[in-house]
Amino acid sequence: MNQTDLANIPSLTYANLSEALSKQRFPAGTLYVVATPIGNICDISLRALHLLTIADVVACEDTRNTAQLMSRYGLHKPLIAAHQHNEHEVALKIIKRLQAGERVALVSDAGTPAVSDPGAKIVDLVLQAGLAVTPLPGASAAMSALSASGLLHQEFYFIGFLPAKASQRETQLQSLLAVCATMIFYEAPHRILDTTQALLNVFGAQRQIVFARELSKLFEEIHRCRLGEAMAWLQADTHREKGEYVVLLEGAALGADADQVEAERVLTILLAECSVKQAATLAAQITGQKKNALYQLALSLQATSTD
Ligand code: SAM
Repeated sequence: MNQTDLANIPSLTYANLSEALSKQRFPAGTLYVVATPIGNICDISLRALHLLTIADVVACEDTRNTAQLMSRYGLHKPLIAAHQHNEHEVALKIIKRLQAGERVALVSDAGTPAVSDPGAKIVDLVLQAGLAVTPLPGASAAMSALSASGLLHQEFYFIGFLPAKASQRETQLQSLLAVCATMIFYEAPHRILDTTQALLNVFGAQRQIVFARELSKLFEEIHRCRLGEAMAWLQADTHREKGEYVVLLEGAALGADADQVEAERVLTILLAECSVKQAATLAAQITGQKKNALYQLALSLQATSTD
């Protein structure tokens, strides 16, 4: 559906909105950070479409992708490539255009620019130059996944992509053990199995995990389970090693200290192999914590796992 088709929908509400939109202010000399769809082409705001219509130039991550996207809305604009290797240089060009009174749109390949995407440096430098930056809100994979995750009983913590190197990934995950907030990760399909195994190794089997795959696309899947069941779910269908993922992980219980989090992690691993008594004895040796307290914790972990 392109912009013309949208305008032809016989909806009074849309007609009113569309008329109102042309009367809204989109000041010149401003950098507009414009969210674009993360899958479904219709997930773009009316304001975003209007701004892309009146922008003098569009700075984008990949000119081929953006040209294709814009042409689907019936739009054709000069494009400048703004990717992670040229952000500084492009920011200087954008600043000159803004100082000359142009409206510049900044978009990425999908979702909200500058969120795990190029654009953050451009925004920073434009602000440092004393110029205006305005966001045009819209799709973001992280917020979409979070809203449908059922993991909003806690605060949330956006992490984005973990390091690709296993040792660095492990170090970062260890540093997140005591975080009492739902953690949001982005992951590439070819790393989803390795990353899930790493999450399991560090956080143990009990925490809830949500896989939000191919959001707003034909094969969208949102699956929630315990971390201990996650690898089996991923491996149950080879399609699950493809597609885009947001992974959400339940945080530590509020009030849990680092010792408790570590005790839970160690006990979870041991309980998969030994009795409650053996697990408590071994966990006491590993963590240096009291055996009786670990025994009680092991009993409650075992009860939760059989719920
Ligand atoms: N700036 C984008 C945003 O606001 O969502 C994110 C860009 S980041 C380079 C791309 C990552 O976002 C993908 O690797 C995946 O983790 C996630 N992602 C993007 N689109 C998605 C979708 N439709 N379903 C699930 N995850 C998606």
